[in-house]
Amino acid sequence: MVETSEVVIVGAGAAGCAVAYYLARSGVQATVIEEQDVAGQASGYAAGLLNPLQGHGIPGPMGAFAWESYQLHLKLWEDLQEETGLNLQGRTISSIRVAFEEADFSDMEDTLALFSATDGFEARWLNAREVHELDPRITPKSVGGLYSRGSAGVDSYQYTMALAEAAKKRGAVVRQGKVCGLEHSNGRMTGGRVTGVKLEDGMVSCDRVVLAMGPWSRQAEPWLGIYIPVDPLKGEILRFDLPAPALDYDLSGGGGSIYAKPDGQVWCGLTEEWKGFDRQASESARRSILESAVILIPELAHAQLVMHTACLRPVTPDWLPILGQAPGYENVYLATGAGKKGILLSPGIGKGIADLITKGDTELAISAFDPQRFTKP
Ligand SMILES: Cc1cc2nc3c(=O)[nH]c(=O)nc-3n(C[C@H](O)[C@H](O)[C@H](O)COP(=O)(O)OP(=O)(O)OC[C@H]3O[C@@H](n4cnc5c(N)ncnc54)[C@H](O)[C@@H]3O)c2cc1C
Repeated sequence: MVETSEVVIVGAGAAGCAVAYYLARSGVQATVIEEQDVAGQASGYAAGLLNPLQGHGIPGPMGAFAWESYQLHLKLWEDLQEETGLNLQGRTISSIRVAFEEADFSDMEDTLALFSATDGFEARWLNAREVHELDPRITPKSVGGLYSRGSAGVDSYQYTMALAEAAKKRGAVVRQGKVCGLEHSNGRMTGGRVTGVKLEDGMVSCDRVVLAMGPWSRQAEPWLGIYIPVDPLKGEILRFDLPAPALDYDLSGGGGSIYAKPDGQVWCGLTEEWKGFDRQASESARRSILESAVILIPELAHAQLVMHTACLRPVTPDWLPILGQAPGYENVYLATGAGKKGILLSPGIGKGIADLITKGDTELAISAFDPQRFTKP
């Protein structure tokens, strides 16, 4: 019997699972096809920081969409936890940017102004004594810093799993398979309609296809005869057990970042390297992350390393996502290229693509992400 589905989504990262979830909420049945595991790539290992006020294209073409996605996150967590029983660890984040010399304060002025002016966010200067009162483990070399509160955090793995589980409970199918091509109604890759997805061991017929393949999106260029410029940016993180008490603040400064997790672990990072599809955790990254983390919390030099992860961010030439209808195709959609913000942006990606499929349009600010903006060099 030929397998069929209203919509096939290729890729079960945060993007693909969010599309499946929002489609399911609109009553549309989708099949998500994943080559490996749900949340098995960057979506399961990301730091999970959701900062809608800063990053590539913010303020600018990404600003409104980042804010909309952030608001969707805040509404989503309770529903997802209730529907799936998974603990997403959704929370508001308190951070300290640590200054090591007077000159560091000028780099923090933009954040102070931005956080102070935004509802639900706050920021204030700290002197050296106040930094140590907040946590005496922070380096004595600090001359002060900036306290801020208002970004959010989530456990990326649990969050992505919850999207997939909640979509399944509403009728979606999530299954293993490697997609290796598309079936075209005209038999050629010249636009028009796609009628199915080819797997290594079969075929799934469908009315619509969503390609949410993250850093592997270029695989689909020959399937469609179009240009999908997404490249992998490698990132590594070290996870430590920091002896109690749990750290209450994310820390940054001196080239390092430390993310405090509700289970008492601290995650340190992050690296950024263009190394193709290399996903090996490297000794050089381990050394450089540890060196910069120890600058912030010297005690980390003796903490137990519990995990070292390496994975790939899907990055486009303008650092903006690729969202919308594939050029020349009436029933193929691209949901990729969210770069360093793919967890933050995923509810916007999911809802935006689900709106396009069910209503032909969306109120979300995705016009700057039109796949047509790139032409083959
Ligand atoms: C170190 C690090 C830290 C990060 N921290 C943050 C953060 O704090 N906040 C934030 O918002 N973002 C963060 N990100 C970015 C975020 O992780 C990514 O943008 C996001 O996970 C991308 O999601 P995705 O679904 O597009 O891709 P992926 O998670 O890569 O999922 C794509 C899926 O498609 C599957 N696939 C590909 N080709 C096929 C095929 N032919 N057939 C079947 N399946 C296929 C893959 O197996 C994969 O599972 C971080 C990334 C890294 C690397």
